[in-house]
Amino acid sequence: IVKTRFAPSPTGQLHLGNLRTALFSALHAWSVGGNFLLRIEDTDAERSQAAYTQALQADLHWLGLHWQEGPEVGGPAGPYLQSERAAVYAGYYRQLRAGGQAYPCFCTQEQLAATRAAQRASGRPPRYPGTCAHVSADEAAARVSAGEPHTLRFRVPAGELIEFDDLVRGPQAFRSDDIGDFVIRRTDGTPAFFFCNAVDDALMGVTHVWRGEDHISNTPRQLLILRALGLREPRYGHMALIVGDDGAPLSKRHGAMSLDGLRELGYLPLAITNYLARLGHSYAEDGLLDMQALAAGFDPARLGKAAARFDRTQLDHWQRLALAATADADLAHWAGAACAAVPEARRGEFLAAVRDNVLLPEDVRFWAQALFAEPAFEPAAQSELAAAPVALFEAALQCLPAHDGDFRGWTKAVGAAAGVKGRALFMPLRAALTGHTHGPEMARVFPLLGQQRVAQRLRAALA
Ligand code: GLU
Repeated sequence: IVKTRFAPSPTGQLHLGNLRTALFSALHAWSVGGNFLLRIEDTDAERSQAAYTQALQADLHWLGLHWQEGPEVGGPAGPYLQSERAAVYAGYYRQLRAGGQAYPCFCTQEQLAATRAAQRASGRPPRYPGTCAHVSADEAAARVSAGEPHTLRFRVPAGELIEFDDLVRGPQAFRSDDIGDFVIRRTDGTPAFFFCNAVDDALMGVTHVWRGEDHISNTPRQLLILRALGLREPRYGHMALIVGDDGAPLSKRHGAMSLDGLRELGYLPLAITNYLARLGHSYAEDGLLDMQALAAGFDPARLGKAAARFDRTQLDHWQRLALAATADADLAHWAGAACAAVPEARRGEFLAAVRDNVLLPEDVRFWAQALFAEPAFEPAAQSELAAAPVALFEAALQCLPAHDGDFRGWTKAVGAAAGVKGRALFMPLRAALTGHTHGPEMARVFPLLGQQRVAQRLRAALA
């Protein structure tokens, strides 16, 4: 059975890159009836925050990415917070030490920094030179019991070729001689990323690891650890990163790219998942898909190798479809404070009238202002008003009492009285009543505005 996982570090808001990794992991598992696991990689006590852990779980639920194993739901391989797994890791550290595959390193930060600087200056890649690898076991034991601060390093075997078949990028090979002995436990006793990430994937039975391609050079190190411990290796798939429209890695500069930012703007979960699922992955179906259908159509073989380009217009396309699929009853909650200018009793009717003309709550706010506060006349609307015959607005006012709320009847009467029809009839009326030449259907706007407001705006057009 396929088991995938999302293993975020709770050090900040989820951004679209993380999110796509989470989504693809979940979709892959579900596409074959497998399970999606959530593990919180919170071993960096300084940067990790419980609030971020809570927020990212809420975010995943909001998107519909519910995990089958992990915090909240439990499972056979818990705990699922790495900060609670020290006892699990201790046994594996002992095993590596007993086998001579790990050793304590007493080098100080200053020493390590000096070595790196010297290596860089002479054009060599910065790599741990193995200083403490040669400290005798007795000496090391004595220094450890004397309380000398130390990390634990993995002893990388010499002369090996580490190969794996990447799910996205195909066969990969790394020379162990290019990898210096690396830290697997920090001075404060907490596990280093390479170690706990790899060990947990194995212990939790993860079969497929999907992650960003920035992790690909970590994979040989993690395979070395797993092989040294005799633990089961997952398959790894390194996905191309998301870049902005300028080709640079996605960042704040490209707008609100955290999930939080998008949610605040009013993007719907379905829009975000449909958009992300197609970012570097293709679907045969080009309509809006719910999570189940997204999973059913997901195929890891369709993952692209090229960097995926973030495109707000595409996101907006999915937002349009997701909004169209939203029930009238759910719109008020989505629009929130954007309806403030609309009397509470009219909000349902208002949203039904403008829903096809909006993408985000800020657009709702725009129409709420235009229809219920002062309309801000756009230049095109002003020209319409200037060009229209005065008789049209006079007739419009006169016919109003007899056609309360009935746009069709009213315009018919006005057209007959003023002797105009078609565009010459409808455009000036729209401009006078809304301040714009485009917008929601007038048959809905007219009753919404109410006689009094319509009369006011017609008088203003006459003035
Ligand atoms: N905690 C790591 C990160 O957020 C996980 C990387 C991985 O998926 O293996 O980058």
